[in-house]
Amino acid sequence: MSRPLRAEIRVAALRHNLQRVRESAPSSRVIAVVKANGYGHGMQIVSHALNDADAFAVASIDEAINLRESGIHQPILLLEGYFDAADLLLLQAYSLQPVIHSTHQLELLEQAKITYPFDVWLKIDTGMNRLGFRPSEFTPVCTRLQENDAVQNVHAMTHFACADDRSDSMTAKQIECFDQTLANTSLACTLANSAGILGHPDSHRDWVRPGIMLYGASPFMDADAGSQNLCAVMNLKSELIATHDVAAGESVGYGADWICDNDMRVGVIAGGYGDGYPRHAHAGTPVLVNGQRVPLIGRVSMDMITVDLSGCDAEVGAPVLLWGDELPADEVALHAETIAYELFCNVAPRVPRIEIKDEL
Ligand SMILES: *Cc1c(COP(=O)(O)O)cnc(C)c1O
Repeated sequence: MSRPLRAEIRVAALRHNLQRVRESAPSSRVIAVVKANGYGHGMQIVSHALNDADAFAVASIDEAINLRESGIHQPILLLEGYFDAADLLLLQAYSLQPVIHSTHQLELLEQAKITYPFDVWLKIDTGMNRLGFRPSEFTPVCTRLQENDAVQNVHAMTHFACADDRSDSMTAKQIECFDQTLANTSLACTLANSAGILGHPDSHRDWVRPGIMLYGASPFMDADAGSQNLCAVMNLKSELIATHDVAAGESVGYGADWICDNDMRVGVIAGGYGDGYPRHAHAGTPVLVNGQRVPLIGRVSMDMITVDLSGCDAEVGAPVLLWGDELPADEVALHAETIAYELFCNVAPRVPRIEIKDEL
């Protein structure tokens, strides 16, 4: 038998969440963000499940080429664009659409010999100070792009810094800055990530760019995914592989710094930081064993974690859920001082992704 740890990926949940995007932004086309191996869920399964999205977005050209070769015919956006002149030939060959965020990229494009023009996404920095041209640079850059034979259509985009916090006024300021910059133009636009889609309808425009909501985690710091009617896509499942009775005063795990305060039954579960379970998860992080919540105890090891089975009726072989539909990844992430995005992306290559086709 193979090691019991696996990530079950629910196709119906992906489709449900895409439908939530469509309901929330009914007049916008949808760019499904599938970067980082579909937020760790497995690019093939995710892109196949979301095959009626209007476009896809990734960060690396390799991922874009894989998508194209696996039969995706929709537009594919490169969120960081291209990095050197050779990339431009691949863009042309695979008909990919780059984000253009810097003068360096603009110059590479002007020096390239492109025979099949492609659409580009001109990125404006409206306050995040990460990628993009300053608003004052917009008009000359846009003109240079429109005059370039390599360019078919220019679209405009920006990215929000604080949309996960609905009380933060920065998102409204970014939208206003974008609108002022684009005034008097008729370019197709995209502003909204998941938080913008669910929290800022005025950011919807021509295209929306959902990522995390497609995978069923909440884009907001103060609301859970269930309250947004999102369904968890990944069920990270394992099994109990050993149990022990440990006496009060004895320690459990590396560092011997977790001490049992009562006699207790300790359970050992296959799954550790070598699989992507966060090493910083605190004692008390919930784990579901046989459908019952039990607390993590001791340090997370590379291949295993330990839990307190007191009051839980479970034997070796009992089913375990590390996160998923009955135990939100957002909740586990809080106990490890991170976000569900990172938990998903960190699921290691050695964990098999299993496509589940059942209805919800
Ligand atoms: C990752 C990313 C998204 C998706 O963001 P979510 O918060 O996951 O919805 C959208 N746009 C850009 C530019 C991104 O890099």
